[in-house]
Order: sequence, then C-alpha cells, then structure tokens
Amino acid sequence: MPLDDSQIERYSRQILLKEIGGTGQEKLLNSTVFILGAGGLGGPSAFYLAAAGVGTLIIADSDQVELSNLQRQILYKTSDIGQPKGKVAARTLRQLNTDIHVWYSGERVTDVQLDEVLPGCQLALDASDNFATRYLLNAACLRHHKPLVTGAVMGFEGQVAVFRHGVDPQAPCYRCLYPTTPQTNNASCATTGVLGGVAGMIGSLQAVEAVKELLGIGTTLAGELLLVNALDVIFHRVRIAKNPSCPTCHKG
Ligand SMILES: [Zn+2]
Repeated sequence: MPLDDSQIERYSRQILLKEIGGTGQEKLLNSTVFILGAGGLGGPSAFYLAAAGVGTLIIADSDQVELSNLQRQILYKTSDIGQPKGKVAARTLRQLNTDIHVWYSGERVTDVQLDEVLPGCQLALDASDNFATRYLLNAACLRHHKPLVTGAVMGFEGQVAVFRHGVDPQAPCYRCLYPTTPQTNNASCATTGVLGGVAGMIGSLQAVEAVKELLGIGTTLAGELLLVNALDVIFHRVRIAKNPSCPTCHKG
C-alpha cells in the first residue's frame, strides 16, 4: 500500500535517506520482527523499531516490571512497577506509533511458541538474558530460515552480532560462537551490574542492524561479533568462524 500523507510526514527523516526512501519505508511497514526480551536491550531496540515504522512487532517477555529495572529499561515508568513487561511494552510502543501493530506474549518462550511465531516474521532479535533461551531462538531461526540479531550486555561491556545461518548455509550460528554456556557468563546484570546507557547503545545497535537486514542495505555484522568496551571506548570487530561440529547448524 502506498504511504499516506501522515506516514510521509512521520517517517520523513528516514525517507530522505537514499538507502531507505519511500520504497524502503513501505518495506519496513510490511515487516514483522520478533523481539525476545523487553528489558535493557529489547526496550531500546523495540522503541527504535516502532518509531521507524516496522509494521508489526511481536514481543515475548515473561517478567514483571521491578523498581531496579527502571535504571535502564526505558519502556517502563515508576507507575508500571508490578505490571507484566510485555503488556506495558506493547502499550508504550502503540502510544509512540499508532501506525503499527504490537503483539506480546507473557509466557516463557518455548519451541512450540517459536514455531508458531517465526514463520510470520522477517527477522528475530535476541534481547534475552540467558543462554538456554538464546540457544532455543538460534535453533528456531535455522528451522524457519530467519536472520537473527543478538545482543548482550554486562557492566560497561556489550556485544552485538548478526547470524544468517537460517538463510545462508555457509554462515555461522550463535552456537558456533558459544557451543556451551561459558562459565564466566553465568553471572548476570543482577549480580554484576550494568550501566543503563551501555544497554541503550547495544539495543540501539541491534535496532540499526535489524533495519539494515530487513532492507538489505549497508554492511551488517553478519558473521561478525562487535565487542564494545564503553569504559575505555574501545570497539572491536571479530569474524565468527563456522564450527564444523556445531551442535545446532552442523549437518551430518
Ligand atoms: Zn552453528
């Protein structure tokens, strides 16, 4: 459907970008993105994707808003404490952009749920906080041939990667990078702390990578890991090798 006058005005600053234009904007409005986790990473990601006019967002988060979330989880206000995150996130995003559809699930994510949701999506965004969930989503993206944008954050550090194993058999997957749960990563933000703005940086980068992947523009972090050290302002980009004995993407 062609853009109407209010859409042309709402999205004018990105329609002006030659890489996006009206055609790209229509493509975003026709896109569906699954966002796993509506916390410190999923919040800013979802905010920017909603603002950019990604037409349908499906958000899964089984937690409730807590006072200690508000230091970084920008979808929520003090008055939301005790409310289900998915419900509040959907309300906040619909208020930001009345042009889009936002669905949410408050259940803990399962293979069955992913098998229902992913076929209707163009991309999945991992903003979860544990390896078990990331492994589930990584495997589901392979089954349903979807690109995956992952992010993680702790302390002053974060990482972002794009995995295209679902659409390119030569591409590495998340489990090629982390075949087993790293011992050092059993820690979480709850025990080690995190600076809110660092979560915001990583979540924003995920949203940017998602838009580029949806539109097929620029050079994404496909097959690469961006390591961010915000304390000393050091950014590193390293290539991720495909693991020939990966428990998820190895065929044999
Ligand atoms: Zn793999």
